[in-house]
Amino acid sequence: MKISSVGEYGKQLTRLGAVNCFLVLEDDGYTLIDGNLKGTEDEILRAAGDVPIRRILLTHPHVDHVGSVDALMARVAGLKLLASERSIPILQVPPDLSLRPGEVGPIRGGTPGIATKVSQTVAEGDRLGSLLVIDTPGHIHGHQAFLDERDGTLYAGDEFGSLGKFNITGFMPWWFPLKAFSNRDQAKDTARKLQGYPVQRVACGHGRVLEGGRELVQGAIDRAKG
Ligand SMILES: [Zn+2]
Repeated sequence: MKISSVGEYGKQLTRLGAVNCFLVLEDDGYTLIDGNLKGTEDEILRAAGDVPIRRILLTHPHVDHVGSVDALMARVAGLKLLASERSIPILQVPPDLSLRPGEVGPIRGGTPGIATKVSQTVAEGDRLGSLLVIDTPGHIHGHQAFLDERDGTLYAGDEFGSLGKFNITGFMPWWFPLKAFSNRDQAKDTARKLQGYPVQRVACGHGRVLEGGRELVQGAIDRAKG
C-alpha cells in the first residue's frame, strides 16, 4: 500500500499500484472515499491512525471500489455508508442491474454487491462536511464525484483515469482493463459539466493525482474521440 498526500486534506491509498481510495480529513475525523479491493481494511485503518473514520462515501459500486466496505463496517463502530440512490440496487447481493427509463446500458464491470446497507443517500448539490456532491454519470449510472471546496480537489472516481494519459475512462486505450463503462457519450458530457466547477487537482480511482483544472479536463475531452 502506497500512501501519499492529496492537496491539504487528503491521503491517497494505492493498492497494487493501481487501485486508489482516499481519506479526507474533516472536523470530526476522516471520510473514506471508496472501499478499494477486498482485504484492504487493515491498511486503511493503519493509514487513518488515531483519527476515526466516520463515513465511507462511494463514487460507484464497482468491485474495486467496494471490496473492503463490509470488513470496515464490522470493525469500526458507528461507521456509516453513503452512496447515491441509483447505486443502491447495484450494491445489493445479487445486484439488480436493470436499467431505468432513459438509461443506456448494459451496466458493465464487476458489481458483486455488498452485505452492508447504505445508511444515507447523497444527491447532487449535497454537502458532506467539505465535500460537494456532483452527479457524474457515464462510467456507470449513479456515479458521483466529490469536490473538496477547501482546496479544489476533485475526487472523480472512475469518470477519469490517470494510469498513463489522463482520460475519460470510456475512452482509454483498447488494452486498458477499466474501459468498462455504461455510456461513453454521457461520460463525455459529464467531463464538460465538471468544467463548471473550481477544480484545482483531480484524484481518480486509478492512477496518480494530477494538478490542474480546466486545461487538464479539456485535454481529456479533446482526446475522447469516437
Ligand atoms: Zn469503475
